[in-house]
Amino acid sequence: MTLQCRYPTKRAFRTREEARQGAALIRQRVEEQGGWYNPLYPYRCPAVHGEKHWHLSRSRQGTKTCRSCGERRPAWFDSRRQEWVVYAHENCATQAVSA
Ligand SMILES: [Zn+2]
Ligand SMILES: [Zn+2]
Repeated sequence: MTLQCRYPTKRAFRTREEARQGAALIRQRVEEQGGWYNPLYPYRCPAVHGEKHWHLSRSRQGTKTCRSCGERRPAWFDSRRQEWVVYAHENCATQAVSA
């Protein structure tokens, strides 16, 4: 199974730190314009091909046990369904992606 970047339209950051700085910048811009900033959480893209990179998500990020293979894997919180969703990963059937 090959996992490509699922979020080609999202901005990619080379490190988690850069993603944090990117989020801080967005916050600054939104607040300067008098807007309401919704928190953005950095997460490592589940793609296994190409360079490692991070994106920003409006969903909380964490680690949960995959229901398919039983391994601890990065996950995001689906606030609509009120449950954690494990990101797609290699050698596993789950294909879940972040909103
Ligand atoms: Zn990506
Ligand atoms: Zn799995």
